[in-house]
Amino acid sequence: MDDIIKEEQPAASVPEGHETKCWGCGLRLLLPSYAPIFRCGWCGAITNLNPQKSESGCSYRWRRLRDWVFVTTLFLFILFVICGGVWAVYPVVFSVSFFCGVFHSTIAFILSGCTFSTFCLSAFRSAGAPASMFWGSYPTVGKGGLEDYTFCIYCERPKSPRAHHCRSCRMCVLDMDHHCPFIGNCVGAGNHRHFIAFLFSVVISTAYVSVMSAYAGFHVWPPLAYDSLDPLNIFSTAGAIRASKAIVHAFLSSALLLSTRGLVLVYLLIASLSVGIGISVLLWQQLRFIYEGKTYINHISSLNSGSSERGWHNLFRFFGFPHWALQFLLGSSNAMKSHDK
Ligand SMILES: [Zn+2]
Ligand SMILES: [Zn+2]
Ligand SMILES: [Zn+2]
Repeated sequence: MDDIIKEEQPAASVPEGHETKCWGCGLRLLLPSYAPIFRCGWCGAITNLNPQKSESGCSYRWRRLRDWVFVTTLFLFILFVICGGVWAVYPVVFSVSFFCGVFHSTIAFILSGCTFSTFCLSAFRSAGAPASMFWGSYPTVGKGGLEDYTFCIYCERPKSPRAHHCRSCRMCVLDMDHHCPFIGNCVGAGNHRHFIAFLFSVVISTAYVSVMSAYAGFHVWPPLAYDSLDPLNIFSTAGAIRASKAIVHAFLSSALLLSTRGLVLVYLLIASLSVGIGISVLLWQQLRFIYEGKTYINHISSLNSGSSERGWHNLFRFFGFPHWALQFLLGSSNAMKSHDK
């Protein structure tokens, strides 16, 4: 980026150089030569004379339609897991004992409540619009008042160095992590914590659904010919063939019975296991980025705005630990660092 010379005099009095104007403070600037991108020496705003605008109404509508399909699919999936799970598993847990039934009903109620509320909070809360700034006139914008701000050509307003413009949401988002089509919203400063809580909730809920559907599945499954599964014989060729036959026979007979409950349980087990594994990987990646003090966008663009030092303090700060607790934890981590040296 070229160095800047601020010049408040009219260009007529300065015959040499390239005259241009800062969008931030409105002052006329004189550059030694033409530069497409420059920073103002007074307000610190960065001007780009050749902004690339690639927005069409059609692509925006497609993105909204994609988001709508993803959000509806996820919503129906969560609803199916809750209703299907209750319908398929409850007869089994209530058959064990009434207390067991009530206990699992309470757990299911808490987990579905957490998942739904965190989903709604991350989907419908604003991802974090940057604060409005004065701009465009010299007396109003003070020295360094728009340091490192750029001009968002889509929103037609100043864009903070911590913000990114999302073309799906049609707004600038503070500390934007990524646009998530499954919640139809950006993940940014306003809803990042809710999004992480949603991921946590999904991981715990899918683990619980996997365990419960496997448990109920074994109750619905026709009894295996346990003699064929003699552990002493299972390692011999004949024993292994007999055991395989018993398992295949049990599977075929349950499929032939076409118990809807059995099919729902098998679907719940496979779906919750695969979704749980996928979301665990995403959650791990998110927590790692927070630990490293960056967002997904920083990661892919090799930028690092905000806190650049990696450490546990980033996680504590993200989850909103009280100030005194943060001071205590930061103090002990600094003490550990100096001890290590
Ligand atoms: Zn300026
Ligand atoms: Zn914008
Ligand atoms: Zn977005």
